[in-house]
Amino acid sequence: MAEKQFNAYRMAQDQFDRVAGLLELDEPTRSLLREPMREYHFLIPVRMDDGSYKVFKGFRIHHNDARGPCKGGIRFHPQETADTVRALSMWMTWKCAVADLPLGGGKGGVVCDPHNLSMREQEALCRGWIRQVSANVGPMKDVPAPDVMTNAQHMLWMLDEFEVLNGGRYPGFITGKPVGMGGSLGRKEATGYGLVFQLREALKDRGMDIQRTKASVQGFGNVAQYAIDLYTRYGGKVVATACWDQQESTAYTFRREKGIDMAELQRITDRFGSIDREKAKGLGYSVLHGDDWLKQDVDVLIPAALENQINIDNVELVRPSVKIAIEGANGPTSPDADRVLNDKGIMVIPDFLANSGGVVCSYFEQVQSNMNYYWSKDEVLAKLDDRMTKSFHAVFDLSKQKGVPIRDAAYMIAITRVAEACRMRGWV
Ligand code: GLU
Repeated sequence: MAEKQFNAYRMAQDQFDRVAGLLELDEPTRSLLREPMREYHFLIPVRMDDGSYKVFKGFRIHHNDARGPCKGGIRFHPQETADTVRALSMWMTWKCAVADLPLGGGKGGVVCDPHNLSMREQEALCRGWIRQVSANVGPMKDVPAPDVMTNAQHMLWMLDEFEVLNGGRYPGFITGKPVGMGGSLGRKEATGYGLVFQLREALKDRGMDIQRTKASVQGFGNVAQYAIDLYTRYGGKVVATACWDQQESTAYTFRREKGIDMAELQRITDRFGSIDREKAKGLGYSVLHGDDWLKQDVDVLIPAALENQINIDNVELVRPSVKIAIEGANGPTSPDADRVLNDKGIMVIPDFLANSGGVVCSYFEQVQSNMNYYWSKDEVLAKLDDRMTKSFHAVFDLSKQKGVPIRDAAYMIAITRVAEACRMRGWV
């Protein structure tokens, strides 16, 4: 039910409208910020390996670039829609602003399932995507990055196509590139680690010792894996993670009371990102229903998969032991479920604050690429920790001062910064 009615763009606009009301924003500023400024919708014809042709639908959407060039990932997903990309582009604007990056918000997508495409077909799709938008993107206009089902290799094909079309080398055009080809050390860990840096601060505030805490995670992609990795290094215990099974188009929760081990599970994950259930059982994991990650007796929940995963139909599964929910995915909690979590006294650290580590590190990559000089991994991660800690405390302090949930406080900071940039440019 909730799944069918869910519309990420409506949710992003509702969240914006609420806070625009709290901030008493004037009408022109509201009109400017509640929709994307520019949208590109296009078709990408690809010659398939069997000689046939297939046409894919692509998008690039610029929500707002008052604070700097648009920034945001490109998703390859069979259920991609213009509305999802609109919502995600809007969240990118707030994400960059709350992290105080000199960047605006954008997002891109292609309606496709990369599991059914060969590497050559994916390369053709990446190059075709760039050919359609090359005039409207670039290091000073719009800087794409990886997202759901796109990775460093896709970014490099896109960079190469952009450089062919523009006749030069523009390593600052795209981020999430392979290390050694203009990528930044620490980029792959950045989103998951950034989330755990903020979780560490939140636990400190609650007077909880991270080493005595337990977490349950949804997802086993890049964000989830590195969140599990750092949380475990800090001494926390992750007892469950839910992972999508590509073959069966369903999710399973992998649970082990003594704690799950990221590296061990990675070794039994196939190229589609599915964990081998039989091998997991052999390692002492119980394999449970996909929703079971939500009903664990843990202190922390980390939804790090897709949108609308904690909704009004399943939020009651959340146990009283849960103190913090920290969003690794974009839009994982529906607004009505969010209210229930707040009423239960659970601290919800919202997506565009908690998962901003990815774009913060992308910004570091952009800076390094533009000066063609690269930092050590320790340097990158120390800078990331510093930024994530500062943005968390700025939001957290405002939330206490105004007596509003952390999501509202994060929105207040982000919207105020973007509205101010629009005003200073004389737009509104
Ligand atoms: N796709 C990531 C996000 O949603 C990173 C975006 C970027 O690095 O530009 O935050």
